[in-house]
Amino acid sequence: MEPLYEEHLAHGGTIVKPYHWLNFSLDCINCPYHIRTGEEARVPYTAFHQIFGFPYEPTNPPTKHLTFYELKTSSGSLVQKGHATNCTGNHTHPESMLFEMHGYLDIAIHNNSGIKHIILYSNNSPCNEANHCCISKMYNFLMMNPYITLNIYFSHLYHTGDGFPAAAWNREALRILASLWPHVTLSPISGGIWHSLLNNFVKGVSGSTAFQPILTGRAMADRHNAYEINTITGIKPYFTDVLPQTKGNQNIMAQAALESYPLSNVFPGQSFQGASGQLEPNLIPELRIPVVFVLVPYRDLPLIQVGENSHKLRLAVRHLNMPQVSIYNGKGSKTSPLEN
Ligand SMILES: [Zn+2]
Ligand SMILES: [Zn+2]
Repeated sequence: MEPLYEEHLAHGGTIVKPYHWLNFSLDCINCPYHIRTGEEARVPYTAFHQIFGFPYEPTNPPTKHLTFYELKTSSGSLVQKGHATNCTGNHTHPESMLFEMHGYLDIAIHNNSGIKHIILYSNNSPCNEANHCCISKMYNFLMMNPYITLNIYFSHLYHTGDGFPAAAWNREALRILASLWPHVTLSPISGGIWHSLLNNFVKGVSGSTAFQPILTGRAMADRHNAYEINTITGIKPYFTDVLPQTKGNQNIMAQAALESYPLSNVFPGQSFQGASGQLEPNLIPELRIPVVFVLVPYRDLPLIQVGENSHKLRLAVRHLNMPQVSIYNGKGSKTSPLEN
């Protein structure tokens, strides 16, 4: 059976119905519109702050999962951008939804052979817990489409700490996914990527207003994420450290800069804690003090090339304008919970 995949231009913007939209849950106010595309997929600043923890972590940890995505050609041209949210009714993570066989990305790349790079920016690192299998689906997707590269950036490590029952499982899955390097990179959001997210995915923020200072607390969390993902996967992430460096760190950074990583890794190789476990004196957190930021303009990063595909761009991702025939009368105009 052909998958039922449609993009609709609805009252609130362009929305995607995955093939399983017939099974949408009444317990989820986002159903079935979990994937949104284009400029309409921008989220309010308050939602970005609460879910991604920028410019600082909110008091209550977020329960929502939000993933921004970009689909790009081999030359780095943007084909499509958007976001995916988790389903609270069907207990589905956005990565699971995006990478499902016959799901959105599967159909998108088969309708547009120009798409070579998928870039995700998530508040949580991907998991592989039994109800979701996010990493397994990503892995299978990449096995089926070996000419596609996947770059994943995250602001929190999800269920990898020792207090979580599935932590060991998630860490092992992250290690296996990362072993597909250079087809896959797993990195913390850091430096100029924060400004790129503000510029491209947040409502009312663009141009110079996106260049907000990165606060010390956020920069420390990013550095910690870089350290942790390196420890879990054994692969250095792409990371821009905006915190002041100790003398020792500077030497390590200089060494790192000489190494030939394709994503210009700038990774000091140390956590923000010294060997004693004590915070180093010059890094005592004044969490909301801005630091000088952006060593490398994010847009200058080279995209990884994995093989060449001479096929010309055949067809843009579809935008069908047919909301009136939807059985979801009134649903298309409802406001996303991200608006609240
Ligand atoms: Zn839902
Ligand atoms: Zn997951």
